[in-house]
Amino acid sequence: MLVVRTRAALRAALAAAPRPVGLVPTMGWLHAGHVSLVAQARAENATVVMSIFVNPKQFGESTDFEKYPRSEERDFARAEAAGVDVMFAPTVDEVYPPGFDTVVSVGAIAHPLEGRARPGHFDGVATVVALLFSLVSAERAYFGLKDYQQVQVIRRMTLDLALPTTVVPCPTVREPDGLALSSRNARLTPAGRMVAPVIHRALVAGAEHVRRGVREAASVRGAVLAVLATEPSAVVDYVSVADPDTLKELVEVEGRALLSLAVRVDDVRLIDNELVS
Ligand code: AMP
Repeated sequence: MLVVRTRAALRAALAAAPRPVGLVPTMGWLHAGHVSLVAQARAENATVVMSIFVNPKQFGESTDFEKYPRSEERDFARAEAAGVDVMFAPTVDEVYPPGFDTVVSVGAIAHPLEGRARPGHFDGVATVVALLFSLVSAERAYFGLKDYQQVQVIRRMTLDLALPTTVVPCPTVREPDGLALSSRNARLTPAGRMVAPVIHRALVAGAEHVRRGVREAASVRGAVLAVLATEPSAVVDYVSVADPDTLKELVEVEGRALLSLAVRVDDVRLIDNELVS
């Protein structure tokens, strides 16, 4: 695995790389979710590029950015074992050199849910992903559906800006008890780790309500909240029942629905979702 740290070195590494190229953008602290994205990229491309960059522009609270787990040595070993060919691990100044002053801001799809809870978050995501797409010019880029809204925001941006990279959504990888893998799980206490699976249990209960024919979105939300309430240390940020395409809140569930939520456990903010179709 070739490790490159500058924009120039990345471009040079890719000039001679066999095509097609698959890109897997991450913030590091790699887990089996990231590895599944690499596996799919590996299967579909001749060259696999991973980026590891904890992007300050997508963090609202600087403490959350500072507390984000980091370990290059561990990540590089995992990435190489998973089949990454080129690792782009730049510094903040390399990504945002002095004078950097552009923001990529996606519209309506970026406003509800995570966009409302974390002002500026998706501007940060879209800006860095646009830059990565420009630097790598990959045929495909792989993103996890655990971050469902992020996939939608990046798809919108790619379409609107006619970027030549195809966005490939990948399924959520979970622990055996249902907890979605996340780098943030590393910050849970042992007690918090025991509580956190309530998130997936709650979403599954909500999805079952829909499948049994419950149509009022408020009832579905109520079913999710009732399960969450069984663990009082899980602090609910939001629970949403939305149209999976527009992410607008539903009143009646008629066809497909996206059940999504953000919950704090041990003051660690965790998100997850379940698509009902
Ligand atoms: P992150 O390092 O958290 O920014 O995630 C990098 C990429 O991995 C994003 O596209 C995430 O959606 C994806 N990802 C994170 N967790 C999971 C998971 N449990 N299953 C599948 N993909 C994931």
